[in-house]
Amino acid sequence: MIVSSSLQFKTVVGEMVDLTDRVRKAVEKSRVRNGTVVVFVPGATGAVTTIEFEPGLVRDMGEALERLAPRDLDYSHNLRWGDGNGHSHVRAAFLGPSLTVPIVEGALTLGTWQQIVFLELDNRPRDRRVVLQVMGE
Ligand code: ZN
Repeated sequence: MIVSSSLQFKTVVGEMVDLTDRVRKAVEKSRVRNGTVVVFVPGATGAVTTIEFEPGLVRDMGEALERLAPRDLDYSHNLRWGDGNGHSHVRAAFLGPSLTVPIVEGALTLGTWQQIVFLELDNRPRDRRVVLQVMGE
């Protein structure tokens, strides 16, 4: 069985959004007991990963991304397109657009302190859609 759905939400610059409960609900609704769920963002300036979702790490992650691809450097992308978000694309490419989580006996196999998060890496607020695809039986 394959059940696709999507989550929609608005973001602000630099926001980290905890999707764990919404993914869990989609898995429950699918009635898949054993399989996987794919969480995917269509878009090249957002990312999906897991982290312990607490304010310290939200801040640490923002600072780490600033060190990885600083906002104020020159990016060829900005010269070409003028949208000023070269750093956003580089950060998104490093983190990746998707995550796969195994489902066992109807439950996500996440660790206790492991949440599924979306990161807004663009340089402006966005309307985001995240695709969920539950596969299994
Ligand atoms: Zn761009």
